[in-house]
Amino acid sequence: MEKALKTVKLYDESPYERDFSGIVKGISPAEDGCRVILDRTLFFPEEGGQTSDRGRLNGFDVVRVDISDGIISHYVKCSPSELAEGEEIRGELDWGHRFSNMQNHTGEHILSGLLHSHWGSENVGFHLSDNIVTLDTSKELDEADIKRLETEANRVIYQDLQVDCRYYEPEELSGMVYRSKIELAEDVRLVAIPGVDVCACCAPHVAHTGEIGLIKIIKAIRYKGGMRFTFLAGLRAFEYVSGLQDMTDRLSHMLSESPERLDLAVDRILRQNGEYRIRIKEEAGKRLEDGIADIPPDKHDAVLFTDSIDNVVQRNAVNRLAGEHGGICAVFASDEDGGYNYILALRDGDARDISKLLKEKLSARGGGSSDMVQGNVKASREEIVKALGIEE
Ligand SMILES: [Zn+2]
Repeated sequence: MEKALKTVKLYDESPYERDFSGIVKGISPAEDGCRVILDRTLFFPEEGGQTSDRGRLNGFDVVRVDISDGIISHYVKCSPSELAEGEEIRGELDWGHRFSNMQNHTGEHILSGLLHSHWGSENVGFHLSDNIVTLDTSKELDEADIKRLETEANRVIYQDLQVDCRYYEPEELSGMVYRSKIELAEDVRLVAIPGVDVCACCAPHVAHTGEIGLIKIIKAIRYKGGMRFTFLAGLRAFEYVSGLQDMTDRLSHMLSESPERLDLAVDRILRQNGEYRIRIKEEAGKRLEDGIADIPPDKHDAVLFTDSIDNVVQRNAVNRLAGEHGGICAVFASDEDGGYNYILALRDGDARDISKLLKEKLSARGGGSSDMVQGNVKASREEIVKALGIEE
């Protein structure tokens, strides 16, 4: 492969061009295909936390693009024999993917600019994948500030401000204030949104903020002394909000309540559910009383099975049984997973021995004192009776 000159970045000047022609300057075998170097390209490489453009070269899929020492490599799904050095080939971007990246990337400038000017917070990390964008910043913000940030960012969109991207001569830069993660000596390309942000950046951006359409912060967590924002812009934000609306519509239909009143409906259901649980436990407690009364006084073991009941009721019942019967005294109350929560006592022995038995035979969990143990066992009533070696 001949020593290639730096690739001309057509996307710098023409971020809205979707296809181009270029001369093959180098071609070599690479992962699942070949690596192609052109004299010029519209393909933005993986750089600065952003994934690379996708598309085709002469109809072959471009799966990844990277840059090293100013030379941009396209990883193309074809064999090296299908393209020739010196040949002029056509490149075509996956424009939907590219424009979405432009919307999200410019959205990141707006958020970072506002965070910097309003809160003195620095952008310390950025990742733009094909489905999610995260932005790490240096200062913590409370909920009200996060809402304000999102509102302000969308206001910048409505103002439809021009986004100016160009290279600056070193003498032009003296006295200029701009955000930059690294100290740049040459090829300083600034992205300026008037009154919002000036930042050194090499990626393609939209020409006017109105093209972003919408910025939605979908998650904000405290992270390494600052914040990690997960946000979506443009079409991705629209699709996210649209998906949420579909969900609220489904819930609205299921709960027969208007979308605006869903929280009230869920609150009502949770309260009703809590009341039902209390009632079920009370009734199970009554049935347990009947069960205790039915056990003959001279019976050695006294083991009862019941629906879910209050833990205190269960414990009191076991204490009463242990006061009257010398063998295994236990109440197994069904849980929500088809197993049983058990409390078990053994007046004339060590209750932990019985618990051990359940652990060995039925992989039960639990523990306690020699007087009383409690735990959970995932087994049927028949399996438990058999494991304990008792007659019900
Ligand atoms: Zn940028």
